[in-house]
Amino acid sequence: MAIAIDGPAASGKSSTAKAIARELGFRHVDSGALYRAATAARVRQGGDAESWTEESVLAAARMVTLVPTELGFTPLLDGETAEDEMRGEEVTRHVSLVARMPAMREWVNAQVRKAAHEHDVVVDGRDIGTVVLPSARPKIFLVASPGERAKRRLLERHAGAPSDGEIAEETGRIVLRDDMDAAQSVRAADAIVIDTTHLAQAEQIARIVALVRAGGWEVQ
Ligand code: C5P
Repeated sequence: MAIAIDGPAASGKSSTAKAIARELGFRHVDSGALYRAATAARVRQGGDAESWTEESVLAAARMVTLVPTELGFTPLLDGETAEDEMRGEEVTRHVSLVARMPAMREWVNAQVRKAAHEHDVVVDGRDIGTVVLPSARPKIFLVASPGERAKRRLLERHAGAPSDGEIAEETGRIVLRDDMDAAQSVRAADAIVIDTTHLAQAEQIARIVALVRAGGWEVQ
């Protein structure tokens, strides 16, 4: 069984998918983490991102292995975790470029499909319900206003409330990434859209778990 959770940057896909996987005893697969790991691998090799070829990114991605964890899978770089590098500013700035390379989409999709073939999974990404696992049920598409997504991202990073200036700056970065990811972020016609702008995370998780348990999913 595969559950797809798609949505834009910082919409809470990964934390929601992880919590749902834990609740249901499924494994969590974060497809964005694979794009990030490949990007981090290519960053390590240096050079101006403008000149990165698809072949050079694919070659760098050989450094990445997807290993099972207690709750799902995690990509390793050269055999080691590299979370800070993968979530850092440089990788975040270049990941959309990598994600637009057809060979890299194939590389990620093959690994996600293999995990889904072997386990019950909750997969989060942009195109899981449309391209990667079109037979996933239910398909959830999380949305939230850019300002709210910016606030959540900042709260994740710092202790304390972010200033209006910080929120405005982060909102700009999020809108830019939305634009860069637009082509690969496709909502499935049969996805259930959940706007989390005014929802607490626990509520959104409970709603999705209830949907999964109820079965008979319909577009809302
Ligand atoms: O989900 P996250 O923001 O970590 O994903 C990082 C990047 O990976 C996205 O900005 C997008 O460019 C790419 N991505 C994608 N398709 C997916 C998952 C992520 O293109 N299924």
